[in-house]
This record gives sequence, structure tokens and C-alpha cells, in this order.
Amino acid sequence: PYDGPRTDEILRKRREFLSPSMLYFYRKPLNIVDGKMQYLFDEDGRRYLDAFGGIATVSCGHCHPEVVEAVVKQSNRIQHSTVLYLNHAIADFAEALASKLPGDLKVVFFTNSGTEANELAMMMARLYTGCHDIISIRNAYHGNASGTMGATAQSIWKFNTIQNGVHHALNPDQYRGIFGSDGPMYAKDVQDLIDFGTCGRVGGFIYEAIQGVGGILELAPGYLPAVHGIIKKAGGICIADEVQSGFARTGSHFWGFEAHGVVPDIVTMAKGIGNGIPLGHAVLKVIEKEKLQENAFVVGSYLIERLKSLQAKHEVIGDVRGRGLMIGVELVTDRQLKTPAKDETFHIMDQMKEMGVLVGKGGFYGNVFRITPPLCFTKEDADYLIDVMDIAMSKL
Ligand code: PMP
Repeated sequence: PYDGPRTDEILRKRREFLSPSMLYFYRKPLNIVDGKMQYLFDEDGRRYLDAFGGIATVSCGHCHPEVVEAVVKQSNRIQHSTVLYLNHAIADFAEALASKLPGDLKVVFFTNSGTEANELAMMMARLYTGCHDIISIRNAYHGNASGTMGATAQSIWKFNTIQNGVHHALNPDQYRGIFGSDGPMYAKDVQDLIDFGTCGRVGGFIYEAIQGVGGILELAPGYLPAVHGIIKKAGGICIADEVQSGFARTGSHFWGFEAHGVVPDIVTMAKGIGNGIPLGHAVLKVIEKEKLQENAFVVGSYLIERLKSLQAKHEVIGDVRGRGLMIGVELVTDRQLKTPAKDETFHIMDQMKEMGVLVGKGGFYGNVFRITPPLCFTKEDADYLIDVMDIAMSKL
């Protein structure tokens, strides 16, 4: 049993020593002290089904024994600069990662976070093209350093002192967007931004094939092929941000962009690589050995189907969407007007926590459940999540 500091003491220390900008979910925040595959445990030993771990880090499950073993083994041997001296581990992992990517995407550069990866990608696009203008999509999240905050396009994640030459294109949002699922129609806005906001040339275009923080929104079909063409013509570089949609999560493909039939020039990734540690090459092996991509496809498709049945029962569910184990459930108080049900989302999420299931929340209006569990999630876990969500919604 856990006998460390408890919630009240941690909260007190956070208030005293940590930036108040750090946020947490739930009315009474959870003190998570242990993790095992798709489960989390709080200070009292209460078990929670983690249907959101994918966002923070976890691809193959909390504390997966093979990943833990690889970390311990390497930590016992050597941790040092990868620039000054040779070591086989970084070369081996670069080779393994390159083998998972299509086309000419064969050169790897390692950074410490998704933010850094996107900062580097945008800087490379600018250096290569000699052009400062970058285009990103409204409602995007690409990080919180100066360059990436420019690319991020949600007011709550931005400071106005930081814009950095990024133009924000119309979001090809299939639920709320003005052109519905007509991808090429939205793509015209990218051409407009180039024609009317730049000299006619751009450094690049950065996108999430499925927006994560933005509320699990898969870009409308046909959008990316059209935009890739437009950007190429304007001399720019296409950057796919796979921080959330990569690493087998979508089930149908290993990378989110693959579902759109495009091959970007640069792919950025983060959390999923290391299962929570900045980097770790045991994860790729586990994903393959345990067929986690296939599991994401089978369990994810099943869960989406069950959520759609739940939508037929509960008026509050406006939209169910996603791919594999990257799923969004958008709550509205009026299906016609699509009025965001922000308070209801928070309330249901809290109720679900009480019944032992943790889901995430996001979207511009804070009314979208983000379901991105570790990829070892089972059909039984999916059934449990559905039952709990059903009960919470019935009591609304
Ligand atoms: N890109 C996307 C799509 C993300 O969701 C995030 C983090 N939520 C980032 C980049 C930034 O990654 P990090 O937190 O590792 O800097």
C-alpha cells in the first residue's frame, strides 16, 4: 500500500512552489501513485480504467515490463551525450524508426519533446525555403514555445506577444465546419492565405491529421492531398505533427497522415515513442510483438460502434468520431444548433471518475471527450467504459 504524501499535502505544495498555470482535471484532483498497463491506482489503492493515457505518453501500457527493463538496463550502463561519442542505441533506434516511415522519410533527428520537434521542423522549413511564412490550421495544437505557440491556433493556448509569421487556415472540421466533409473546398482557403497574405511563396504547412487537443477532429477527406499540392507549388515544406495520432494509435495505419494518401516532407513525434520516458526503443518492439496496431483497430472500431449506439440513446451526444483508439465524443445541448455542452461534459467526466473510468476532455469549447487509452485496451474495457458513460448520462 501507498504511504507517501496525500492529495491535500501535494495540493498545498503545488500552490506554494509550482506555477499556477499548471492545471488538473476534476473537482477533487486525483493523486495517481501506480500504473499497470491500462489501469491507474490512486493513493487509496482505488483502480481506474485509463482511457486517456495516450495523450500523456503511453502507447503500450503503463509500466510495460519490457519497456521498464530496457530503461533500467540502459540506465545501469550509460546515460551521456549522443553528440560527442558513438553509441549503437541511437543508431539502431533511428534505423528501426525509419523502417516504419514511407517514402523518403529516412533521416531521424531526436529532440526531447513534441514542442521541440515542431520548433525544429518549422525552423528547417524556413531555412530550407528561405521563407518565414508558415501556415497552420485553426484549432491546432503544436506546442508552447515561441515558434510553436505561433502555430498553435486556440486562444486559450496563446499569448498575443507571440505570433511569428504563422497564418491560420480554415479548419476542415467535418462536424462544425462550413463545408462539412468537403476537404478540397477548405483547401481553397490555404491558397487564399498564400495569395493574399504572403509574397506567393511559403516556408511550410504544419498539421495534425487528427487534431488531438482540438477535440479529436480528423481533417476532412481530400483536404490534405489538395493542400500538399498547393504548398508544393508555393515552394513550401509539409510537416505532419504525429505527436498524438502516430505510433499505431489509429489502428488502420501506423501514422495518421497515411489515411489521407499523402507523404509529408517532415514527420514530428513525441510522447508515444517512449511510453512516458523521453525516448525508449523497446516500445516499437512491443507494438509489433503484441500486435498493438491491430488491437487499436479492432477494439477502437468496436468502441466507436458502441458509442454510436449510445448516441442514439442520449440526446447530449452530438458527434462520435475518430479512428482506432483516438476517439472523440462531442456533447451538445441542442443537436441542431450544436450548442456546446461544456458544464455537462465536466460533470459527466467527474461522475465517470467516481465510477473508475478516466477520460480526457478537449476541443475549443471544452465539450469533447477525448478517448485515447493505452493501446493494450480490451473489448471488456470498452464495454466497461460504455456502461459507465451510459449511467453518468442517464443521471444527467
Ligand atoms: N503536437 C501535438 C499534436 C500535441 O498534442 C502536443 C502536446 N499535447 C505537442 C505537439 C507538444 O508536445 P510536448 O508536450 O511533448 O511538447
